[in-house]
Amino acid sequence: MSMANDHGEIAPVPTPSGWRQHDVHRPKPPVVEPGEGPVGVAAPKDAIVLFDGSGLDAWTSAGGGPAAWNVSEGALEVVPGKGAIRTKESFGDVQLHVEWAAPNPPKGGGQNRGNSGIFLMGCFELQVLDSFQSESYADGMAGAIYGQYPPLYNATRPPGEWQSYDIAFRAPRFDSNGELREPARMTVFLNGVLIQNNEALVGQTSWLESMPYEKGVVRGPIELQDHRHPTRFRNIWLRELPERPAPTEEEKRIPKAIDLTAAELDALAGAYATGADGRGTRMEVARRGDHLTFKVPFRPTEVRLVPIAPLHFEMRQTDGRLIFQKDDQGRVTGAKLTIGDGGENQLTKVEP
Ligand code: MG
Repeated sequence: MSMANDHGEIAPVPTPSGWRQHDVHRPKPPVVEPGEGPVGVAAPKDAIVLFDGSGLDAWTSAGGGPAAWNVSEGALEVVPGKGAIRTKESFGDVQLHVEWAAPNPPKGGGQNRGNSGIFLMGCFELQVLDSFQSESYADGMAGAIYGQYPPLYNATRPPGEWQSYDIAFRAPRFDSNGELREPARMTVFLNGVLIQNNEALVGQTSWLESMPYEKGVVRGPIELQDHRHPTRFRNIWLRELPERPAPTEEEKRIPKAIDLTAAELDALAGAYATGADGRGTRMEVARRGDHLTFKVPFRPTEVRLVPIAPLHFEMRQTDGRLIFQKDDQGRVTGAKLTIGDGGENQLTKVEP
């Protein structure tokens, strides 16, 4: 995968995959015949319905003005020459369901056969193409992240039949200077077959040369392409995906560890077992140098314990703790074990 530079030398191809964009030698994925596939599925109750067959309220023309595609028999059809349409709203991370059907009877070949596209954030194209028994370059066929990733399989249905994309899209992340911190990612099922597995986008999708990310842009409309072919769409809905909450500074705070002597630690070491009679699951507490560890039979390695009070030991990585118990004579008799919200488990010390 190389090409001659100005001096006739062989230079490496400047793409992450090593393939030139639209390289005709890039292998075509295997054909998979999908099953019945998820078409006509009802949107989850919390979904934002973008098109349910009734109208184009959620859409506008990419060139300005109302969306001017045809709506009939519950489907939305590209009107060649009317231009792309896009949602009025902008979105970042989404789960997106789209159904589409290539024109029937088919016309043309390669990129000129049932070409449309679904642009996440208005700039990352998931290709829509009639790739059923029709070849085009691998990174431009149906299910390709255009110019970047061929689909893993060609799971297309014949022209005229409804097909579904189920897309998980993660928007790019940028730092406060607008520099890319995390690329956009896309996972796609075509007719229930996984064809894009969490691929990291190189930049905006584009023709002929790659296009960089637009700095700091993390939301954009969903756009449908007018490639002058009467492709149809229906049942378009999405769910906006939440960011997983990070702990606050307060929630991140681990209680300060205290220092205990080897003798204090040794007094707590020994074998424990669940149940007041000490006949349940056996667990070992051991001193390893300057700290205690905790070992359960169904986990291969020891868990380090951190003392925050003479009898109170926290786990470092898990919201869990062992609080040891002593009797009137100061002998260690057991401990209460807590992990997450699993309640307190009484352990009885069975061996010194
Ligand atoms: Mg296209």
